[in-house]
Amino acid sequence: MMIRYNDLKKINDAYEPELSEAVTRAVRSGWYIRGNEDARFEEAFAGYCGCSHCIGTGNGLDALSIIMHAYRELGVMEEGNEVIVPANTFIATILAIMHAGLKPVLCEPSASSYNIDATKIEQFITERTRAIMPVHLYGQTAEMEHINAIAKKHSLKVIEDAAQAHGATYNGIRVGSLGDAAGFSFYPGKNLGAVGDGGAITTNDRELAEVARAIANYGSHKRYVNRYMGFNSRLDELQAAVLGVKLPYLDSDNGRRRNIARRYITEIDNPHVTLPQVEDYSRHVFHIFALMSQYREKLQEHLKTEGIETLIHYPIPPHRQEALRQFCHLSLPITEQIHREELSLPCNPAMSEEEVTRVIEAVNSFRP
Ligand SMILES: *Cc1c(COP(=O)(O)O)cnc(C)c1O
Repeated sequence: MMIRYNDLKKINDAYEPELSEAVTRAVRSGWYIRGNEDARFEEAFAGYCGCSHCIGTGNGLDALSIIMHAYRELGVMEEGNEVIVPANTFIATILAIMHAGLKPVLCEPSASSYNIDATKIEQFITERTRAIMPVHLYGQTAEMEHINAIAKKHSLKVIEDAAQAHGATYNGIRVGSLGDAAGFSFYPGKNLGAVGDGGAITTNDRELAEVARAIANYGSHKRYVNRYMGFNSRLDELQAAVLGVKLPYLDSDNGRRRNIARRYITEIDNPHVTLPQVEDYSRHVFHIFALMSQYREKLQEHLKTEGIETLIHYPIPPHRQEALRQFCHLSLPITEQIHREELSLPCNPAMSEEEVTRVIEAVNSFRP
């Protein structure tokens, strides 16, 4: 039997019959956009993240972009301002900045945590810089204490890309409340996943929350009154109902991911493989279990032969993408090495101990 990377059917079957009951309730309610399900989920998710405000959005890309559009409406940022972002992120982080009329400034990650290298941020700060956007990549929180200190010193906003890290903490504080605002994705494969697209913004800034909520709804804070040139990007009632069922299980699901990762880290022993360095397991929710190998392609082929599906996050770095060719002149050796060597092992709450054992044995038996 093939071990799938992420078996979404198996993952979601674990929430039945609650999931189907919630979907039926939402369908039968007769109210499909910004109703009770959305309001209830927003309140629950804000509480979970330790924030006073949560705004549901259509997806994670929009959540991030709307935060910056809101800052523009508030006069905090203007067209052409710069946002410092890790170069090795998923392209959505960078697109969100550009779609808001701002300029991404790509910063190398740390070669051990794969998160933005906080010691390299200050060299990129100019008088046009308005924000730092750390990404909690693979599910591990960035060095928030250091990043927040730099932001404070230079009066910059900190916007978390929390799309891969629902439930991770830093010094006991949950992702979503570690900066000025955060963007989440509820894409089905994320640690908290919907059955379609979905996203959210969290913040403790009431003014920002009000503007962002209006921008996500045609720029309207009151029906048919439009203060801003907004978008249509809302979390629908069906997705909110599904997320409301899954949220109470997020911590135990993340615990299961951590246990699998702990076994991988203690039991995988192969000189051709570099395992992730985890200092504090509460900081990591293992959205992705990323190992590095010089022999990535051969290793992926070997695992496939052993019946194990793996993925690569991500094969091409953003600055090498055709869509972002204005950045192709940049030399980002750490980013490029990560994209050359990264391989993601299956790591999700639907896996059995036997499957985890099979993955470990297959990685250990690899010879290039
Ligand atoms: C998934 C993801 C996004 C975008 O989320 P969508 O809901 O797919 O738009 C943004 N940033 C990162 C790091 C992601 O992994």
